[in-house]
Amino acid sequence: KEELQVRSDQYETVVRVAAGIAHEIRNPLTSIKGFLQLMMSNSSSKSQYNDIIFSELARIETIVNEFMLLAKPNEMDAYTETNVTEIIEYALSLFTHQINKHNIQVETNFDADVSVIHSDPKRLKQVFINIVKNALEAMDKEGKLSISTTYNSIQSNIVIKLQDNGKGMDVEQLRRIGEPFFTTKEKGTGLGIMVTTKFVESLGGSIQYDSKLGEGTCVTIILPVEM
Ligand code: ADP
Ligand code: MG
Repeated sequence: KEELQVRSDQYETVVRVAAGIAHEIRNPLTSIKGFLQLMMSNSSSKSQYNDIIFSELARIETIVNEFMLLAKPNEMDAYTETNVTEIIEYALSLFTHQINKHNIQVETNFDADVSVIHSDPKRLKQVFINIVKNALEAMDKEGKLSISTTYNSIQSNIVIKLQDNGKGMDVEQLRRIGEPFFTTKEKGTGLGIMVTTKFVESLGGSIQYDSKLGEGTCVTIILPVEM
């Protein structure tokens, strides 16, 4: 008879992640429950409670979605000719409203030589969405986001830089970046960079964060042209 054994380091990881998820999901659940109770006893401000309930439900949905992305890498596996420039522009287009509303200046400088690589467009889309979202959330007024791609023929890779002039991070924040549930935002999940890093690495690439408090953040991603 085979013995069922869970390696203790794996067990500890599961416990830590499970505790994190449980905690993150319990907060919005508690709030939904509370507001439903309020709604039942006080019908006059129903719509106000509705908004809160929907936003708390959306939060749970985001957390669960981000974990689903991590849990299903194989399903997402789809290597094909991937146009990096188009994917970055697609990611930017999703935030047009926010960019215009906050008057953010977007400057792109795409390498004309090579923009097509052998990669997985689905995962890359998620990567750029996460990074652009963070950049926009870090910027207040007179925000500027500069994105460049540079083809490196010797190493056969593409270097992508996304630079914002937002609030930046201090050394401690920078050290904790990518740690599950590390967030400085009221409505953050602290899962975006973990997913982003995992995806870039699974595509044979690397990612680096440089940041200065009060000055801005630069994310550098290096992706191989041939996977
Ligand atoms: P979330 O965005 O939900 O907080 P992330 O994993 O995407 O989770 O980011 C974790 C934390 O890293 C953020 O809360 C923020 O403090 C910091 N961060 C990420 N990107 C930037 C950026 N471009 N500028 C400043 N801080 C950032
Ligand atoms: Mg984020």
